[in-house]
Amino acid sequence: MSNSYQNNLAFAQNMDKEDPLRKFRAEFLFPTFHENEVVYFTGNSLGLQPRQTAKYIQQELDDWAKWGVEGHFEAKNPWYSYHELLTEKLAKIAGAKPIEVVVTHSLTTNLHLLMVSFYRPTETRYKIICEAKAFPSDQYALASQVAFHGIDPADGIIEVGPRAGEHLIREEDILSAIEEAGDELALVMFGGVNYYTGQFFDLEKITTAGHAQGAIVGFDLAHAAGNVELKLHDWQVDFAAWCSYKYLNSSPGGVSGLFVHEKHAHNKALPRFAGWWGHDKSVRFKMEKNFQPIPGAEGWQLSNAPVLGMAAHRAALDLFDKAGMTAVSKKRELLTGYLEFIITDISSNTSKVDFEIITPKDPSKRGSQLSILAHGQGKKLFEALSAQGVVADWREPNVIRVAPAPLYNSFEDVYRFGLALKNAIQ
Ligand SMILES: *Cc1c(COP(=O)(O)O)cnc(C)c1O
Repeated sequence: MSNSYQNNLAFAQNMDKEDPLRKFRAEFLFPTFHENEVVYFTGNSLGLQPRQTAKYIQQELDDWAKWGVEGHFEAKNPWYSYHELLTEKLAKIAGAKPIEVVVTHSLTTNLHLLMVSFYRPTETRYKIICEAKAFPSDQYALASQVAFHGIDPADGIIEVGPRAGEHLIREEDILSAIEEAGDELALVMFGGVNYYTGQFFDLEKITTAGHAQGAIVGFDLAHAAGNVELKLHDWQVDFAAWCSYKYLNSSPGGVSGLFVHEKHAHNKALPRFAGWWGHDKSVRFKMEKNFQPIPGAEGWQLSNAPVLGMAAHRAALDLFDKAGMTAVSKKRELLTGYLEFIITDISSNTSKVDFEIITPKDPSKRGSQLSILAHGQGKKLFEALSAQGVVADWREPNVIRVAPAPLYNSFEDVYRFGLALKNAIQ
């Protein structure tokens, strides 16, 4: 395909005409810049608002007004079980069985709750392997979990990073770090898609390698959910969590998804921090002692569901369900391929900048994001893009992240980005 891409408007518009997901763009609200829609390439940070989100939230506001507390059972979508309306659609996105997923809390909270259950260090087996320069919240969460067990994070945490002079983490280095840690390894806790480079790790291989050493394997899928195709059940992943406000377009700070593999669903011996929403539903309102966890992911819930946030998530999940992750994934490869072509085309026709795309070239090894190192003039270039209505993202020390989202970005967006980039260089 990449050989046949062209850097012109007619080509981009023709790609849009042939795009089976083209009609989804109209389902989203775009910010404007001087009365034109921006080129919105930050779906990896905060996805755009679906048009129907307001309707879904309004329904719950109306039922709250109409029913007050009775809405827990009398609302059109009873709040008591509202989160259950999300389960099947989210399970498809995660490649999971319904019993394995639940929508609850926020991401970092869920990571902590899951580590309470799945990071159980002993005298000899207490180490965690993670990626170097993980998202800061994950770094803090891991270090504090290790310290909570009285272990020095410098001893308890093994970071796998890129080799000197490289940007990506080599798969073989992850696998050999896991093997080297051997029976000292308690937990492998990696990101699915790295937020900085867009590198999509081979979660199945990592899981198999971790299990071979007798460790538990969990993932933070903040940049993977709604972006790449996941098969958490088949890959035997022990646990995972992700947020819903990046590629899943479910409102700022929106609710999080939590996955626990079916093999742990009935294990009541797992320690956990408990709350009434994780307790056996049939006897929840007896308000009695002795926590009985609901089998599966729902048993990790603490509190009754924040219905307005859930409503926003539901609006977005309905769109994903119509589109299907396979189609989203296919378009992602074409869109990022086109973006890569445009950037390379512009870069090769100028001596003023030297762009380096640090994201993997192989489409199966990356998500919907390209990270560009603009040697020499990163921040200035980024500002010149912003001044033309391109919403991208600047990450210290010198990377511009551009993330076209398959559900609402078009090939024309990519072409327009190219025009802005050319101007910015001048
Ligand atoms: C976005 C992101 C977070 C944010 O966590 P919240 O608890 O939702 O604030 C955490 N980890 C990763 C890897 C992320 O990309």
